Amino acid sequence: MSHERMFELIKRDTTSKARVGRLNTAHGAVDTPVFMSVGTQASVKALDPRELREMGTQIILGNTYHLNIRPGMEIITAAGGLHQFMNWQAPILTDSGGFQVFSLATIRKIQAHGVEFRSHLDGSLLFLGPKEAMKIQATLGSDIAMVFDDCPPHTSTPRELRGAVDRTVRWARECREQPRSPGQLVFGIVQGAANPALREECAKELVGMAFDGYAIGGVSVGEPEPEMMRAIEITEPFLPANQPRYAMGLGTPAQLVELVARGVDMFDCVLPTRVARNGTAFTRKGSISVKGGAYKADFRPIEEGCDCFACQHFTRAYIRHLLNVGEILGLRLLSVHNTRMYLKVMEDIRAAILAGTFDALRREFATNYIPTQKVLLARAAAADR
Ligand SMILES: [Zn+2]
Repeated sequence: MSHERMFELIKRDTTSKARVGRLNTAHGAVDTPVFMSVGTQASVKALDPRELREMGTQIILGNTYHLNIRPGMEIITAAGGLHQFMNWQAPILTDSGGFQVFSLATIRKIQAHGVEFRSHLDGSLLFLGPKEAMKIQATLGSDIAMVFDDCPPHTSTPRELRGAVDRTVRWARECREQPRSPGQLVFGIVQGAANPALREECAKELVGMAFDGYAIGGVSVGEPEPEMMRAIEITEPFLPANQPRYAMGLGTPAQLVELVARGVDMFDCVLPTRVARNGTAFTRKGSISVKGGAYKADFRPIEEGCDCFACQHFTRAYIRHLLNVGEILGLRLLSVHNTRMYLKVMEDIRAAILAGTFDALRREFATNYIPTQKVLLARAAAADR
């Protein structure tokens, strides 16, 4: 597929770098900017495919590292691929496992063509590199595969960062040469932390390999927000304007608005379902702890004006009660609300860019959205995505 057919740039905002586009994949089109729900273990935690579709979910994430360990590729092959296995007939993006190997597993040895590590589950010795990661993603049959990269922690020394960028570029070239499943797109991942020279170098090397899209990695690794924004700002100018850009593992609703303004098209984040499991709900004014005593007799919906199933049918008092007595439904209803909230923010962003009112929406979020420390900490601990 040519780049023009694969990604159509529909409208650019005049007040920022925001844009509206359409990404065409083997399982259908995705309107961007898009939020992708995280289904690490072939399931978006607590939500089924029917409700995901009803909420407006366009594309979900699966994960190479986790699915390769359990259920294993024999089962996925026998099922006829990941779409069939989990009964999700819309687009799927798979992460390569690089992030998990470097954050979750105990690394034994970084070798020329991959990493030898111990499984976080049972300590068994495993190996994952460009070849293995692409083979697993071809077996999963995802619509978008990610290259296997070296994702270092934000506390890395300059020397460690240099090594990570070199390996990321070398491994990207190896990934580029591997067979794909029919129609599968492959995205490169730019590393280099907050170092402008490394980001530029890594981006230029990857763009030279002509991937279908580009991700900005090495964000959401525990760095403070200004550093994260800076990593995006110093990378974006080196990514082709006519191809999709994806910021991995981010962020809060207010951060997504700011990242769209910086030219990012695609996002994934565990926050909507993760904080739901802590009894927290996202609103346009920040997050609230529904579990807290303040809502004991509050018979309003989680968020006034929200069109989600939870807000249309249930009250804060009822959901708080469910959470307090440990009923699964409480967590499910919060997951429904939070996921729909994220999707609605993206729908509003797309509509605002098309209508030429994105700047007003951006200012509304900057003024009204109060981030809470608890949520930012939950993002910092996002290693299990
Ligand atoms: Zn709601």
